[in-house]
Amino acid sequence: MTDHKKVALLYAQDHQKQTLDKMKELIAIPSISTDPERKDDIQKAAEWLKKELSDLGMTKVEIFPTPRHPIVYAENLNAGKEAPTVLIYGHYDVQPEDPIDEWKSDPFTPTEVGEFLYARGSTDMKGQIIATFSAVEAILQTGELPVNIKFLIEGEEEIGGSYLEVFIKENKDLLACDFFLNPDTGMLGPDLPSITYALRGISYFELRIMGPKQDLHSGTYGGVIHNPAQVMTDLLSGLHDDQGRVTMKGFYDKVLPLEQEERDELSRLPLGDDHYIDQAGVSKLWGEEGYTSVERTGARPTLEINGLYSGFIDEGQKTVLPAYAMAKVSTRLVPDQDPDEIYELFKTYLAENAPDTVTWQLDKLAADHPSMSDRKSPWITAYIKAAETVWGKRPLFVRIGGSVPVVVHIQQILGVDAVNIGFGIPGGNLHGPNENVHLPTLYKGIEALVHFFFNLKQ
Ligand SMILES: [Zn+2]
Repeated sequence: MTDHKKVALLYAQDHQKQTLDKMKELIAIPSISTDPERKDDIQKAAEWLKKELSDLGMTKVEIFPTPRHPIVYAENLNAGKEAPTVLIYGHYDVQPEDPIDEWKSDPFTPTEVGEFLYARGSTDMKGQIIATFSAVEAILQTGELPVNIKFLIEGEEEIGGSYLEVFIKENKDLLACDFFLNPDTGMLGPDLPSITYALRGISYFELRIMGPKQDLHSGTYGGVIHNPAQVMTDLLSGLHDDQGRVTMKGFYDKVLPLEQEERDELSRLPLGDDHYIDQAGVSKLWGEEGYTSVERTGARPTLEINGLYSGFIDEGQKTVLPAYAMAKVSTRLVPDQDPDEIYELFKTYLAENAPDTVTWQLDKLAADHPSMSDRKSPWITAYIKAAETVWGKRPLFVRIGGSVPVVVHIQQILGVDAVNIGFGIPGGNLHGPNENVHLPTLYKGIEALVHFFFNLKQ
């Protein structure tokens, strides 16, 4: 271990109290991005970050206004052209505190209970932002940075439709980097360091089946009019076969096969069938044959009916033959599926299977690409080493079933890989009441980041 790394680690350990105080300061600013009344707090959080970034030794710090909430940018490129450049992503906005009655302490008064700090944003993700600050500070207060560092911290992550995508497109040179670090994911347990290397994409549709020009009396017309609700259920039920596979022609054509080595990694995750049964409260699981639950939820594409509406659904009865039926349907996609191509495949399925007694319309509501990082990249290798040093074990490799558009946007626009990590653990109640962070894990995370930045140089 280099002397600098040693003293930086000691500095980080000696300054845990200061880290905690900083977290408390930032968390106490209720920067709820959805609430127009909190606009001043959003601005305050951005200013707080700006000052903090200058104090910890960033050489250029700037707040960029956007049509909604400002973006904070900072850099220290003193490591020079030979050293890699890391772009650290973060978001300083938080979810609303609702339901307020279920909080045991005030959501914006950070409260320590045992090893945990309770407050909105403690894990998602002000705590994690401060962890990156503390790691950088520990290195800069004891010497020079081994890598170039850029921070990109937005205030619109929790509202969707973030301006960040436009900002990245317009500032490609400013944000140029070798890879980006996204500390907004988590660990599967306090002793289970984890790297999220793949996220599923999504394509989301609204399907309408139109029949008669208006609702009809089912006694008068039942028997001669093809009921749109019936057509809808026929079409939807035809989308899976009896092995749990999606039947759209070509749906699996671009799916990257799972290699045995990757399946072995995924099988290390502590997420057996019991986990899903317990969490969901069902008696039995369902899904595509030939794949484990972890593979089905992260590494295989799926199709779900998210909503279904037709006819009369109030109390009592009404003998109606509905004029139309509507369904919300989404697919979760894996590399190298393309959400726009899936839209075309769905249209082909409907063209081939919808009867000519009705008309149909398929609208696209969302389309985000899947993403995957190279598990063998020098960046991931550097984090594996860091985690092994701090936790004494090889990190778990996680594929998340959901979609995180910001990761995909940065990857696509800047053409770089992501290292998705984080120090939140299960039970952190992100987005829910009593959000909390496990402080000993966060402090270990700071040490892992210090190791990580030094490992990148070698
Ligand atoms: Zn987050």
